[in-house]
Amino acid sequence: MQSSYNFWLVAISFVVATLASYTALDLTGRIFLLASASARLRHAWRAGGAAALGVGIWSMHFIAMLAFSLPIPLGYDAVTTALSLGLAIGASYLALCMTTQVRLTPGRLLAGGVLMGLGIAGMHYTGMAALQMTPGIRYQPAWLAGSLVIAIGASSAALWMARVLSKDEQRHVVRKRFAAALVMGVAISGMHYAGMAAAGFAPDAVCGAAKGVDAAWLATSVILLTFAILIVTLMLSRSGARATFLISAVSRLNGQILRLATLDTLTGLPNRSTLTERIERALINARRQRSLFAILFMDLDGFKTINDSLGHSAGDAVLSAFAQRLQQCVRANDTVARLGGDEFVVLAENLGSREDASALAEGVLERMRRGTWTDSQPLQVMPSIGIALYPHDGDSVETLLKHADAAMYEAKRAGRSTYRFFERSMNEAAVRTLQIQNALHDGLAAGHFSVHFQPKFYGGGDSLAGAEALIRLHHPQLGELAPLEFIPVAERSGQIVQIGYWVARETCRRIRGWIDQGLPPMKVAINLSPRQLLEPNLVTTMLEIVKAEGIACEQIMFEITETVAMQDAPRTIEMIRAFQASGFEIAIDDFGTGYSSLAYLQRFRVKQLKIDRFFTNGLDEHGPEGSAIVSAIIALAHSLEMDVVAEGVETESQLDMLRSMMCDEMQGFLLGKPVSADDFGELLRGRMLAA
Ligand code: C2E
Ligand code: MG
Ligand code: MG
Repeated sequence: MQSSYNFWLVAISFVVATLASYTALDLTGRIFLLASASARLRHAWRAGGAAALGVGIWSMHFIAMLAFSLPIPLGYDAVTTALSLGLAIGASYLALCMTTQVRLTPGRLLAGGVLMGLGIAGMHYTGMAALQMTPGIRYQPAWLAGSLVIAIGASSAALWMARVLSKDEQRHVVRKRFAAALVMGVAISGMHYAGMAAAGFAPDAVCGAAKGVDAAWLATSVILLTFAILIVTLMLSRSGARATFLISAVSRLNGQILRLATLDTLTGLPNRSTLTERIERALINARRQRSLFAILFMDLDGFKTINDSLGHSAGDAVLSAFAQRLQQCVRANDTVARLGGDEFVVLAENLGSREDASALAEGVLERMRRGTWTDSQPLQVMPSIGIALYPHDGDSVETLLKHADAAMYEAKRAGRSTYRFFERSMNEAAVRTLQIQNALHDGLAAGHFSVHFQPKFYGGGDSLAGAEALIRLHHPQLGELAPLEFIPVAERSGQIVQIGYWVARETCRRIRGWIDQGLPPMKVAINLSPRQLLEPNLVTTMLEIVKAEGIACEQIMFEITETVAMQDAPRTIEMIRAFQASGFEIAIDDFGTGYSSLAYLQRFRVKQLKIDRFFTNGLDEHGPEGSAIVSAIIALAHSLEMDVVAEGVETESQLDMLRSMMCDEMQGFLLGKPVSADDFGELLRGRMLAA
């Protein structure tokens, strides 16, 4: 049977073969530029080169086959055609693997060349088989052998050139690479046309795959593939320099990224994800060896105050110093990690007993008690530590961390700067805290909060001196929640700020209501908690709230507990002055519990001192000693020109004694319990009518 060739398609087939070769050489050439790249990256480049080369060889073959025509209709069996493509890519990959090894011996080069050549030939003859000719194609042995020799010889030469080029740092690399691609293009085309010359078609031959993949479809897809290769080649050659730079930068960054992903940037300690991995490993080891390990969860006491008052750089310095000291307290193979913020965790493995864990915690507390923290500030920062033990307190990373955290909160509740082992009941406390947090979250929107008012009376008679606003939370599921339970939770979560503003707004609204009813104006005290005092705009926001309700500032007094006031006395003084400048009055609440420095008490210059309920109680319970303390406090306050309010007056005898000591005001269940705003309005009305 007589065959013929379309010259233009032959030319295109040669161009495609050369371009494909160029792409492959370009891609693999980069492998050597990535001396420090990871094995995975090298692999990806090699696979990319192999795919480009394999697809290129394959499309060259089919474009050449389209150039070839017989006087009968031709088609290609899809499965065999796909197989031929797979062969081309596979052989290219193996050949590139062999020749891109760091050391290329002549043996390896030859093996690569043979593989490549056989792959090209295999692809060609498999592709021919896809024609499914009957009777079959007869191949002339001499041409067939010739085609194999051309394929192997030229492939070896091209691979060798590629290798030499990859080391060539001179200019004209592109030109040289193109020359190598030309040789390879010749190899692929030469092999193809030699193979075609070897093929003999019987005069009565029929193409069994004429109904298979049709030639037009094949032409389209092959041309599309060719374009894909062209585009890849173009992109690579254009961004070649940039890509190379990027890749070497990436490999340099690789190490840094690894460090960032596993270590905490500030302290250089392992971070949460690394800690999780280590605990997982510890769990496996401990299970196998039946050993004991401990998780010590630490949170710095009062760190937020440091950060807010001294600035973040001071805070960072404290964290770094703490991290350093913590590392000195543990054994060499213990893990010290920072979870973020001021939370640190120590993982101590292979412990002999529970006592080892407490010894470790005591060691840490002891170490931290010594010394100052930052260069400029003589600070002492202590952690509260919670301990969870494996296997006693849990057998997963999550449970152990959660339980150590719950124990840490217990340590905080127990007065801070101490440690606690996890106990089951703490879990319940943690769950309760979470419930309360949710209740607080819903509370403002759903109107679960209200404000009650407790009357305050002048000491001499029983005339009203004012009231204290006390928040109440009634939750539909949890019921009535005591402020002593939810205020600390709100304080820790920061929710107290919004809640505090709400209390102020609601109090002002109620005062407005009383005024509008023609009731006598009353001074109302509002409690402030420590977290609120850290708000930079506290005074201005309060001023806006009071103004918005049309209330005079003189009607509002703010109570700050003594302990809080003393924590950062200079700042408290500033705050007090700002409030006073706006016309608000200030009281020191729960006085007697905070070991006030008298010097500061004098400088606070507040309007009122509220004696804690504990001392009022002591009037009955501690006999003459109790009354001596109270009268001393009253005398002190008077000498500093402050009024004294006794809190928690419950009995007539307390009331009598306080009167005899010239206490200015009294507040307590005996005289009046906290009541709703409406009830307090009634109280005011009753007083007004009686007067
Ligand atoms: P506090 O400011 O010292 O308020 C006085 C507390 O003593 C109130 O408890 C009051 O009901 C209670 N009390 C008054 N008289 C007596 C008495 O004769 N006997 C006894 N046993 N108790 C008496 P409450 O309302 O449970 O509030 C507790 C604490 O919660 C308050 O102590 C205050 O520190 C805080 N708090 C209450 N409302 C607010 C608020 O709106 N904001 C902030 N930040 N804290 C608040
Ligand atoms: Mg108070
Ligand atoms: Mg109080």
